[in-house]
Amino acid sequence: MSTAAGEPAGGAASRRAELAASLQALRGRIAAACAAAGRPSGEVTLIAVTKTFPVSDIELLADLGVLDIGENKDQEAAPKAARCAADDVPVTWHFVGSVQVNKAASVSSYAHVVHSVDRLRLVLALGRRASAAGRTVTCLVQVSLDGDPGRGGAAIGEVPAVAEAIAGQDGLLLGGVMAIAPQPMPPASAFGRLREVAEQVRSAYPAATMISAGMSGDLEEAIAKGATHVRVGTALLGGRRPFVR
Ligand SMILES: *Cc1c(COP(=O)(O)O)cnc(C)c1O
Repeated sequence: MSTAAGEPAGGAASRRAELAASLQALRGRIAAACAAAGRPSGEVTLIAVTKTFPVSDIELLADLGVLDIGENKDQEAAPKAARCAADDVPVTWHFVGSVQVNKAASVSSYAHVVHSVDRLRLVLALGRRASAAGRTVTCLVQVSLDGDPGRGGAAIGEVPAVAEAIAGQDGLLLGGVMAIAPQPMPPASAFGRLREVAEQVRSAYPAATMISAGMSGDLEEAIAKGATHVRVGTALLGGRRPFVR
C-alpha cells in the first residue's frame, strides 16, 4: 500500500480507515443477503476472525463496534485475550479452530464460545476446566458435512450424542452448531444440510439456536440457509501473513 509522504506506512489512522471501509462493505453484503432471505439483519452476528493479525487490529475493530472476535489457535488467542483484558477491551472471544484436549484448560479460561466441539473427550475436558474456573462456556457442535474426519467435525450421525453431552455437562451450555462448507460441495447444499442438522438439535434443545456458518467467500449462501453467526477474516482484515507478535 502506498502512503502519503511523511505518513508512517501501516499507521494506526490509515489502518483504522482501511478496516472501517471493509467493515462498511461487509455490513452491506450481510444486509443484502439478509434482505434477499427475508431476514432482519439483526439476526446475523458478524465474528471478525483475526488470526495472524495483531491485537492492535482487534482494538481498532472494537472501536468500530465489532466486539465478537474469532481465533483458531490457542497459542495466539491466549495472549491476545490477555492483552485485551488488560486494556479493558470488552471482547467476546469465539474459538473457531480445532481444540486439542491438552489446550482445554487454556481455551476455557478465556473463550466465551467454542465453535469446534466435535467429540466426547473434548466435552469432558472443556466442561471440567470451565467449571473449575467458575466459568460457563457456550459450545457449538462442529458438524462434518461430508463425513471426512480429517477436517474436524462430528459426523452427522454423531451430532446428537455430542449435543447431549454438552447439554449435560457442568460448565458448558449448548449453543447450536457450526460448519465449514467442505470443498467441492457447493456451499448452498452444504449449508442446507447444516440447517437440517441444526433443526434436529434445536427440536431437542430449544435454546440451541446458533448456526455458525459462512466465511468471506460464502456468507451469502450461509445467510440464505439460516446462519446466525458468520465468521469473516479476509474480507474484513485483508490477506493473512505469518503472525508476528
Ligand atoms: C480463518 C477462518 C475463518 C475466516 O476465513 P476467511 O475466508 O478469511 O473469511 C472462518 N472460520 C474458520 C474456522 C477459520 O479458521
